[in-house]
Amino acid sequence: MSLATTKPSTDLAVIGRMEEHDHEEVLFCYDKPTGLRAIIAIHNTTLGPSLGGTRMWPYASERDALTDVLRLSRGMTYKSALAGLDLGGGKAVIIGDARTQKSEALFRRFGQFVDSLNGRYITAEDVGITTADIKTVRQTTKYAAGLPEADGGSGDPSPVTAYGVFMGMKAAAKQAYGSDDLSGRTVAIQGAGHVGENLVALLVKDGAKVLLTDIHQDKLEAIAAKHPVTLIAPEAIYDVDMDIYSPCALGATVNDDTLSRLKCSVIAGAANNQLANEHVHGEAVMKKGILYAPDFLINAGGIINCFSELNGYDRAKALEQTRGIYDTALACFKRSAAENIPTYKAANEQAEQRLSMARKAGKRF
Ligand code: NAD
Repeated sequence: MSLATTKPSTDLAVIGRMEEHDHEEVLFCYDKPTGLRAIIAIHNTTLGPSLGGTRMWPYASERDALTDVLRLSRGMTYKSALAGLDLGGGKAVIIGDARTQKSEALFRRFGQFVDSLNGRYITAEDVGITTADIKTVRQTTKYAAGLPEADGGSGDPSPVTAYGVFMGMKAAAKQAYGSDDLSGRTVAIQGAGHVGENLVALLVKDGAKVLLTDIHQDKLEAIAAKHPVTLIAPEAIYDVDMDIYSPCALGATVNDDTLSRLKCSVIAGAANNQLANEHVHGEAVMKKGILYAPDFLINAGGIINCFSELNGYDRAKALEQTRGIYDTALACFKRSAAENIPTYKAANEQAEQRLSMARKAGKRF
């Protein structure tokens, strides 16, 4: 497989991988003068144009980059479908080190590739990409969202993401404990980052007892200076007594090792891909009697915020729409209980149902 083409690849191995999860289009982007090597994957545009961030990462190989962009773009289709947005799923990856390989020319060229898709893909921020980078991309395409607030954009989506996670957590509490009141509940948050910090504030206000960990002590101390939280060591989070485990750092923290240690009745956090293996660990959490709030359902506040920018940004409206995560999550838990299936499966079914209804009504894009 080569990236030395601006046309969709005719490599049958790539098409085979697209067939696996039903991707519509993959664009390989290469530009020698700027050193740009990127892949844009459009998974599904049944509900509308595909929207998903661009990730800049020093992938070990083009194959790794392709695997990531195919997986991430598919996830966006489900996330937007569940959030009730008229958006499809897409994602882009730029192969490179975000600390050393960024340039204005590279992002301007990347914007031209995005533009060549005529709005079938709209880009935004993801790992390694800042609102300032999106501003540069916007110089060559209008199909980019997530501009700084000072430029009329939706800015940092983290407060809205945290609000959605909070509402999803409340819905999980309602299902697990019969009440969505979190006062007196012990919530252990992994990750004192952008989402983690905002979530701490919401939980403390609701009367929850918050345990917090991070690998950076300074971040923990900054939050502890503002809120009554109990700080714990990074590895201790899997062994403490808690009601709710809230992963807000990395993916795959629900795995063979941690599952036997986790003492919680609910898992609800912002991190993407919390289950190391969706099928294996999705089943296992259910068998253990833990209610898992699917990450792609409850962390949709960020995409809701971004979508709002496309129609003239209004944060109050974005928050109102994000509040809907509560009802969607509750419907997912009820379906899971009624059909005796893991919650991730119930969420996927909900998304598939919306996609199938839209297909029957006639594809828009
Ligand atoms: P962030 O980078 O601001 O914060 C992540 C925090 O996790 C950092 O403080 C980091 O030091 C900490 N961390 C890393 N490894 C850790 C470990 N082993 N133990 C404890 N802490 C650790 O990221 P964020 O924007 O707060 O996002 C958090 C998660 O939510 C990410 O997985 C992200 O992909 C996901 N997410 C974020 C948004 C959003 O709007 N920001 C939207 C959807 C999903």
